[in-house]
Amino acid sequence: MTSILRVALPVPLHTLFDYREGAARAAVGSRVRVPFGRRERVGIVAERVDASTLDEARLKVAGEVLDEAPLLGGELLATLRWAARYYQHPLGEVLFAALPTSLRNARALPPGGIAAAELTPAGAAALAAATPRRGTRIASLLEALVAGPLATTRLDALAGAAARRNALARGWIARCRLATPAQAAAASAGPPLNDAQREAAQAVIGAGGGFAPFLLDGVTGSGKTEVYLEIIRDCLARGRQALVLVPEIALTPQALRRFRERLGVDVAALHSGLGEVERARAWLAAARGEAPLVLGTRSAVLVPLARPGVIIVDEEHDGSYKQQEGFRYHARDLALVRAKALGIPVVLGSATPSLESLANVEAKRYRLLRLDQRAGRARPPTLQVVDLRRQRLQHGLARPALEAIAACLARDEQVLVFRNRRGYAPVLLCHDCGWSARCPDCERALTLHKREGRLRCHHCGHEERVPAACPSCSGLALHALGEGTERLEDALGAQFPGVPVVRVDRDTTRGRRLRDALLDSLPEGGARILVGTQMLAKGHDLPHLTLVVVVGVDEGLYSVDFRAGERLGQLVVQVAGRAGRADRPGSVILQTHDPAHPLLEVLLNGGYRALASRLLQERRDAGLPPFVQFALLRAEAPQQDLLDRFMRAAAAAAGRASGVNLHGPLAAPMPRRAGAWRAQILVEAGERAPLQAFLPAWLDAVRTLPDERRVRWSIDVDPVDLY
Ligand code: ADP
Ligand code: ZN
Ligand code: ZN
Repeated sequence: MTSILRVALPVPLHTLFDYREGAARAAVGSRVRVPFGRRERVGIVAERVDASTLDEARLKVAGEVLDEAPLLGGELLATLRWAARYYQHPLGEVLFAALPTSLRNARALPPGGIAAAELTPAGAAALAAATPRRGTRIASLLEALVAGPLATTRLDALAGAAARRNALARGWIARCRLATPAQAAAASAGPPLNDAQREAAQAVIGAGGGFAPFLLDGVTGSGKTEVYLEIIRDCLARGRQALVLVPEIALTPQALRRFRERLGVDVAALHSGLGEVERARAWLAAARGEAPLVLGTRSAVLVPLARPGVIIVDEEHDGSYKQQEGFRYHARDLALVRAKALGIPVVLGSATPSLESLANVEAKRYRLLRLDQRAGRARPPTLQVVDLRRQRLQHGLARPALEAIAACLARDEQVLVFRNRRGYAPVLLCHDCGWSARCPDCERALTLHKREGRLRCHHCGHEERVPAACPSCSGLALHALGEGTERLEDALGAQFPGVPVVRVDRDTTRGRRLRDALLDSLPEGGARILVGTQMLAKGHDLPHLTLVVVVGVDEGLYSVDFRAGERLGQLVVQVAGRAGRADRPGSVILQTHDPAHPLLEVLLNGGYRALASRLLQERRDAGLPPFVQFALLRAEAPQQDLLDRFMRAAAAAAGRASGVNLHGPLAAPMPRRAGAWRAQILVEAGERAPLQAFLPAWLDAVRTLPDERRVRWSIDVDPVDLY
């Protein structure tokens, strides 16, 4: 009797597809070619069963089996199945999201190991006959290979790539691959750990085999990376692999170098800036157990590991861990699921832990490890609030801030001016008639990008030329209102002539190369002003920076989003943490129109921990996550009546669900974007179980609604924002 293969395909359908197994046996987790519609597609065998619920005689036969051993096996496959159910996303799309792009089709796997070369018989003969004269590069290259094959990188260091290519062309050497991973170099020593660091590392190392979650809560500059390095060193010494997740922006060549040099091993990097082949190689090196250390951004949490030892999530509070479209998983949460399934420790590290993780510590689900002091000689920065009321501002900067900047530059130190808004000004306003530039598709203000002469919508990408006169009254009194990083860059350049001003935001860092080069140049010395958005708030070690000016925090204080207070606290503390990380003390200036705001007061007097415990209490009192569970159904449509009809029907389809509450349909906080009308239904439950029990049946019902194909809708389980 032939088996039935239940195959997952990368299509947005919540179903598997049944095929009869062909001549070759197809293991669960392997890729297989299958006929689908009028063409052939590559799928992944999700299950093998004895019988189909369909008429087996009419089932098509599966084609070529592309992998002998499963690509996705064991624990990873189980975790992906779990994630597909939990996030209510089709299994086919989830499984394909876990594969690197170049393995999503029928391509053969690139060979394992590292590129190397070996001597051919012709090469040995040439060497014996002294055909290449002794002492030439090519002769030394052949001599080096007499003892056995060598890595291409080693050969090139020895004799140069030209000699290697020459020898290849003459048939004296041949390409081959070496199985063992290359030792990059001897590990370089770091600073001796202080007591707190040693205790934290020991707690994780001593946890023994088995699942053990930790929250490493260490103030900025407390040396969390040194703790990670110690934990990883132990993990590698036990012959196990370490997986380290970092936020999107933090994976710079600088960071990779630090890990490589300190541990003396090759680092398999996984991030969106890599080419397809490179990425597939790193992925396979992890899967085959060849890569001792895997360092990657969000999607690296889905990488297979042959010999897993520990998972580390750095800056665990960071928003980039949440995938915001398609398969909307949270990498930090999946790291916990995987560590549990793998039976290994997982370390979440941050100076500003998420309220979710702090609640897990309170509930005794995570063990708390604290680093309360900055490492080495660095002291915590001092904080000063500048009240903006009735102050004369120069392009948004108050006199005390400008004076502090001047003093800092005079000491040959560096300043960071932080403003979480790119562009020149967030509003262009006519002083005569009150007209302001708005996006025709979103009804929000357009941002002025003065240098390019464009008005841009930061929500949908709409752009237009800056008008010479007011389109409404033809007046010439168009004013740029408020300030973005571009304006601050201009203003500071004019105020401090001769001092280099470097702007770091999405506009100055388009393209990965440009971004890496810019971020890599930041630690240099000399008086300088850095102007930037939150890109600069994350993780960079800037030893010459002693002053941080936060231009405005007021938008964060009045946002309707229930996470706004948490985000504001994290941002202010992270950006403040850039100051004074080396020998010289740092200071931070916070400009605000509302110095008595309760959140600011708590933050200034008690720091992030005081703010976090107050916010947690507020969330508990108000019945908000992490004390309740949310799922958000978002929908958009070109016509409002169509959207309303669909959303009313979707809400009605919920019936009388037990243990969950539906709020809505409501207009989205941004009711129009890119020309579409937008609405949402918030599903709330006291516990995960009733929510998870409710969603599949409800969403099945929503999928059968008559307007379902005319609207765009999605479900977001554990949404991080309610937009
Ligand atoms: P964090 O990630 O906690 O902000 P880092 O790990 O980047 O901090 O460390 C901050 C700085 O302190 C780095 O320059 C690091 O080399 C230094 N450092 C870390 N641990 C020690 C130590 N035990 N003694 C001296 N310097 C240290
Ligand atoms: Zn006007
Ligand atoms: Zn727009």
